[in-house]
Amino acid sequence: MKLLILILKPLLIQCRQASELMSKEIDTSIGFSNKVRLALHNAMCLPCAYLRKQYRFIDSVLRRMETMHQVHVHEHLDNEKKVLLKKQLREFFEKEH
Ligand SMILES: [Zn+2]
Repeated sequence: MKLLILILKPLLIQCRQASELMSKEIDTSIGFSNKVRLALHNAMCLPCAYLRKQYRFIDSVLRRMETMHQVHVHEHLDNEKKVLLKKQLREFFEKEH
């Protein structure tokens, strides 16, 4: 059991870190080890798994709008607005948590 804990410990992350990774993975690659950390965390943490679904849903809606209207919605949302939107989502989620 101790060996298992030693192996898993570097892979265990807190909700805040999971939330940051989920936010990052929408815009960029988070790497294999972070993907494993996130999958492991979300397998044990229902609220974070739910938040990831929300992030993905919002991203898919934005992408669909982009395809439908042939405009680059992501580019129209400047970085400041993206950060604010993600911050609001995170705060909303943390209240529910
Ligand atoms: Zn969590």
